[in-house]
Amino acid sequence: MGVSFNGRTNVSKTLYSRSSRDAPAVTNQQLVEKLISDKTLTTPRIIDAFRSIDRKDFVLPGDEGRAYEDRPLSMGYGATISQPTTVAIMLEKLFADGGSPIRGKATLRALAASNGVKILEIGTGSGYMTALLAELIAKKGKVFSIELIPELKGLAEFNLKKYNFRNVCLFVDDGKAGLENYAPFDRIISSASGDETPKSWKNQLKIGGRIVAPVAESLIVLDKTSKRRFKEKEYTGFIFVALR
Ligand code: SAH
Repeated sequence: MGVSFNGRTNVSKTLYSRSSRDAPAVTNQQLVEKLISDKTLTTPRIIDAFRSIDRKDFVLPGDEGRAYEDRPLSMGYGATISQPTTVAIMLEKLFADGGSPIRGKATLRALAASNGVKILEIGTGSGYMTALLAELIAKKGKVFSIELIPELKGLAEFNLKKYNFRNVCLFVDDGKAGLENYAPFDRIISSASGDETPKSWKNQLKIGGRIVAPVAESLIVLDKTSKRRFKEKEYTGFIFVALR
């Protein structure tokens, strides 16, 4: 995912400059505390997931010492493990219900309690976001994650094995087409940025569902209100890996 947040939006600028003043976190718990004190992480269930998933398990060998810094790290093949602040912002937006048309219907708690909540992720990369999603939606749900580069899918598989998830399915493919065979999805999240949100994702989203995906350097939140209607919000100031 992009991967990093360059601090250009008003709200987040404060967060960014603050993070660069602070000493870098050296444990996963310190990283989580920083994201909480920045007010980037606010939802208790999402905070718990960040506590349970250790970012060190997803960085390349040799990068363990930098695993808790709030910055993206290269994974090779043009990919990066996303900046924790970006991951946290995306997950908070994926499940936030405030002010959205899906209020009450599909909050995180309701989603997790319901049977078989399905999430589509595009751009598995290291598998860090995949692990957070799997942790969040609990056993009954399923995360379907697509990665274009076979070697990265292999790496994500290796990293995810440390957690024994039974609710994750990884695919090597072009994520722009989505996953027709497993649609419709409650949520779709992409870590790679294209010129627009692919139509296939919009079609494969349930009514009442939400897409969080980068378009150029913005993060787009799309709520599907009817078969053809979407409500869109845009948040600027991010840098993302390109959707190829
Ligand atoms: N969430 C990941 C981010 C990886 S960077 C993490 O935190 O580790 C974005 C990823 O999108 C890269 O792994 C890149 O290979 C992948 N990607 C780019 N274009 C893609 C496409 N068309 N389909 C699937 N994956 C794609």
